[in-house]
Amino acid sequence: MNRRTFLQAASVGLATSPVTPVVGYASQPGAQDRSAGNGVGTQSQPNAESPKQILLKDYRPKSIYKVPVTEVAKAKFPIIDMHSHPYAKTPEQIAEWVRNMDEVGVEKTVILTMAVGNEFDTIYPKYAKYPDRFEIWCGFDFTGYDNPGFGPAAVRELERCHQAGARGVGELHDKGKGMQSGKQKTMDMHPDDPRMDALWAKCGELKMPVSLHVADPIWMYQPMDKTNDGLMNAYHWRLDNQPNIVDLSGLVDRLENTVTKHRQTTFVACHFANLDYDLTRLGGLFERNPNLYADISARYAETAPIPRFVSQFYAQYSDRLVYGTDMGFDKKMYRITFRVLETMDEHFYETEQFGYHWSLSGFGLPDASLKQVYRENAAKILA
Ligand SMILES: [Zn+2]
Repeated sequence: MNRRTFLQAASVGLATSPVTPVVGYASQPGAQDRSAGNGVGTQSQPNAESPKQILLKDYRPKSIYKVPVTEVAKAKFPIIDMHSHPYAKTPEQIAEWVRNMDEVGVEKTVILTMAVGNEFDTIYPKYAKYPDRFEIWCGFDFTGYDNPGFGPAAVRELERCHQAGARGVGELHDKGKGMQSGKQKTMDMHPDDPRMDALWAKCGELKMPVSLHVADPIWMYQPMDKTNDGLMNAYHWRLDNQPNIVDLSGLVDRLENTVTKHRQTTFVACHFANLDYDLTRLGGLFERNPNLYADISARYAETAPIPRFVSQFYAQYSDRLVYGTDMGFDKKMYRITFRVLETMDEHFYETEQFGYHWSLSGFGLPDASLKQVYRENAAKILA
């Protein structure tokens, strides 16, 4: 506990310094700001709105609980972030990113460019200036995927990118319509399609791990009605109105077919393979497939509502989960992920970051698990 200081309740809201980890007893930091009326209508006037008129999109509850509030300015152990993208475009922005990484304790970030050809060659040198801080991964070239001769040219482009410095492949997507690599989209070519075999095999041969995103959160497939648990985000990314796509369960099956068929290739399923709502199924995938990992990126708000079950899952599979963000590079974002993973804080809101109306609770992961998820598993994959 020596990295944390206990503060008096009265001073906490303002005293949570951005650089010193502290625990206080108070309601949410920043709660005071909101009553100043930024963005939430007439909230500063008590009783101005009746519950019948408040829209779900405007709902911004403040925690009433006098419970510990922990700010984790720097991760407890060094981190390899396995899921990020080339958000920074200029040398200045990339330098700023590196400074942020230093401040919050991220040793290395994997940049999933999803790009090939010129696009890859343009992004690569910008980040390659910091060889110890970034790994740059490429995409697949799906040009001509629906022609009979597809395969050899795509494999050649993969070899070329590898030669040029790409250390892995991703993020590749299949949200139900077919494989996608950045702007290159296919129709009905899913990961377990035989046309993909030569590419997956080459990744194994070149020891290039693959970051593969299948499906999307479950509520995007469900009816957009009052029973939808993730409605405020689901509606924006809805998939329920696309009848001819492979659904979440079908895509997870196709992921497993792929991973099973290509044992020499290491796959990192993005975002818990979108099984954050059904971790038991993800556990089964891990049991059956030693070459499968999952990243935890962009699923903090989806797992933090069930911290006890999720903690048990981490305890069981901490050798298969890797840290990731997928949410830009500002320091506040990183610190929210640390709070979820490291602390036992309860019932805190991060609506601006995640968009959900519900509150979050931390997992309080033990040091051994944190070390694995933050760095050790990733180091093994990148070795
Ligand atoms: Zn991503």
